[in-house]
Amino acid sequence: MQTGKIGVTTENIFPIIKKFLYSDHEIFLRELISNAVDATQKLKTMASVGDYKGDMGDTTISVSVDKKKKTITVSDKGIGMTKDELDKYLNQIAFSSANDFLDKYKDQSSAIIGHFGLGFYSAFMVSDKVEVITKSYQEGAQAVKWNCDGSPEFSIEDVEKESRGTDVILYIDKESKDFLEESKVEQLLKKYCKFLPVEISFGVEKEWKDGKMVETGKAKIINNTRPAWTLKPADLKDEDYNLFYHELYPSGDEPLFHIHLNVDYPFKLTGILYFPKIKSNIEIQKNKIQLYCNQVFVTDSVEGIVPEFLTLLHGVIDSPDIPLNVSRSYLQSDSNVKKISSHITKKVADRLAEIFKNNREDFEKKWDNLKLFIEYGMITDEKFYEKASKFALLKNTEDKYFTFEEYEKIIKENQTDKNKTLIYLYSTNKTDQFSYIEKAKSKGYDVLLLDGQLDIHLVNQLESKLKETRFVRVDSDVVDKLIQKDETRESKLSDAQKDDLKSVFNVKVKSKEIYNVVFETLDENDAPVIITQSEFMRRMKEMSAMGGGMNFYGELPDSFNLVVNPNHKLVIKISEDLKSEAGAKLTENNTERTKLKEEVSFMELEQKKKKADEVSQLEKDDLEKLKKELSTVENSRKEILESYGAENKIVKQLIDLALLANNMLRGEELSVFVKRSVELL
Ligand code: ADP
Repeated sequence: MQTGKIGVTTENIFPIIKKFLYSDHEIFLRELISNAVDATQKLKTMASVGDYKGDMGDTTISVSVDKKKKTITVSDKGIGMTKDELDKYLNQIAFSSANDFLDKYKDQSSAIIGHFGLGFYSAFMVSDKVEVITKSYQEGAQAVKWNCDGSPEFSIEDVEKESRGTDVILYIDKESKDFLEESKVEQLLKKYCKFLPVEISFGVEKEWKDGKMVETGKAKIINNTRPAWTLKPADLKDEDYNLFYHELYPSGDEPLFHIHLNVDYPFKLTGILYFPKIKSNIEIQKNKIQLYCNQVFVTDSVEGIVPEFLTLLHGVIDSPDIPLNVSRSYLQSDSNVKKISSHITKKVADRLAEIFKNNREDFEKKWDNLKLFIEYGMITDEKFYEKASKFALLKNTEDKYFTFEEYEKIIKENQTDKNKTLIYLYSTNKTDQFSYIEKAKSKGYDVLLLDGQLDIHLVNQLESKLKETRFVRVDSDVVDKLIQKDETRESKLSDAQKDDLKSVFNVKVKSKEIYNVVFETLDENDAPVIITQSEFMRRMKEMSAMGGGMNFYGELPDSFNLVVNPNHKLVIKISEDLKSEAGAKLTENNTERTKLKEEVSFMELEQKKKKADEVSQLEKDDLEKLKKELSTVENSRKEILESYGAENKIVKQLIDLALLANNMLRGEELSVFVKRSVELL
């Protein structure tokens, strides 16, 4: 028997290994099985070039748990090791590389993506003692056993072993006894080893027989050695891709499309990406892409490797060229990773363009599900925007789809305003904004439906990309002003009449909102009163609600315009009623007001003629006094008008109708409205 000390200076590396990456202890199994896979594939390669002439036999790697002995064993039929190799690989190389690895990363364990490199010695994260029993493939090789009990001392001795290959036996320590649960081991195997290229068995197959589960005696294989991404696209049908999708995400919906990635240069990368049906919540969909390194699962958090918006995709990326044992920030700045990332973006865009070109109908059908993803890409990735702007679609309120270019052509003629700005009209809710949409359509305008979560951001982006273009929501102004043309219309009410009505309509509408009364000279057939909300203010508020950093706007109350149409006969009637019912008071007030106004303007003119220091204090005081009187008279006029309006049922009714058309009349206000309507009938 040979004994010795592992050749490193550290007195005892095992306590460090045990503590290292506490939450990631589970990777030991992946590391040992990876080694077993490597050893098996090395032998297969040797056989294929004629360096190994023996019988390959069954090369299944077996994983087993012995609860009584508290051991986990990983056995392979790979190349095995001679005594010298064992000494070289495990005692010298493996140990010193584990040591280097720990030295380098012990301070930033959480920053590491994969933990490749710790290798064989990760076994000590969970074990008191590790035994390796191995027999080289070479003819007449002597089997040897390596034994190490967690101190730097080890022993190597000759033993009997029938078959070629290596058994690694872990004596699981107390703290790690969870790993002796079959369900735990199975879970780890499913996570890390599901697609390894050599068959791995764990436990035995069971089946239903006579009403109960019985063991069949057949070893249970836990992995698919030829996952779809390792096959040639030509050999796969859509069904195969879908099947594989369900293998990855057993509870997932059918994906929309897939992209098979296959890159050789300047880096090696294979994989399949799927477009999932994106419903609403972005967060839930993230981190579904699984990253593999030669079919070994590494991680499913791929930020930094694929562009942010692609994290919405599902699927698998396999690359031996992604540096796995480095920090994320390093990863993000790594030039290879950058290339991978932009290559994937390009592939995704190309594939979408291809689907769009080859089957537009299908693309349109899937658009609503694809849209969030594509818009996300367009907003966050300039290169993607360039490509996607050729196939991204706009949907109108009649469920028709257009490319940006097509849509521009359609609206150009009718929706260019007097300043040559092309106005894109849109609605965010077909039901709530129904009456506005109808109005716009009656003018021959087209209205887009932009009801997606990212639409508001896309609108901002399109406005900055497309020249002389503005997006305007249908309810942000009266239809004549949505797209301003050079027409003018006469108002049937004079400015003075409108001025008075402004106060009449200044009725307290709702407590939490602000309403500004404005007049728009509309057609007599247009509505008497319309509620609109300024595009700018609304958008600012929306952006701030989405965390756009514009908190100032977020805190402002909602502010609406109460647009009154002076050409509508009901409005004219209110103006006439006002005259007959409050006429005397108003005329009296007006006489007073006119007189004061004249006096004020006369005095102002007089004082203006003089130099500032020639105006006496007395004269100044007189003017001040007159102004005060005038404002008192004006205020009392306002009061007369406002209380008239507050009492006037038609005024209230018109405002409520406008609110109703906007879906803004609810609760108590709605029931008051209904009562009043009955009374008026
Ligand atoms: P790595 O696998 O990264 O080289 P490890 O520490 O995991 O590092 O293993 C060190 C070496 O030990 C391997 O390169 C290999 O030569 C040898 N080895 C480990 N496990 C086995 C095995 N199951 N069969 C044959 N050789 C093995």
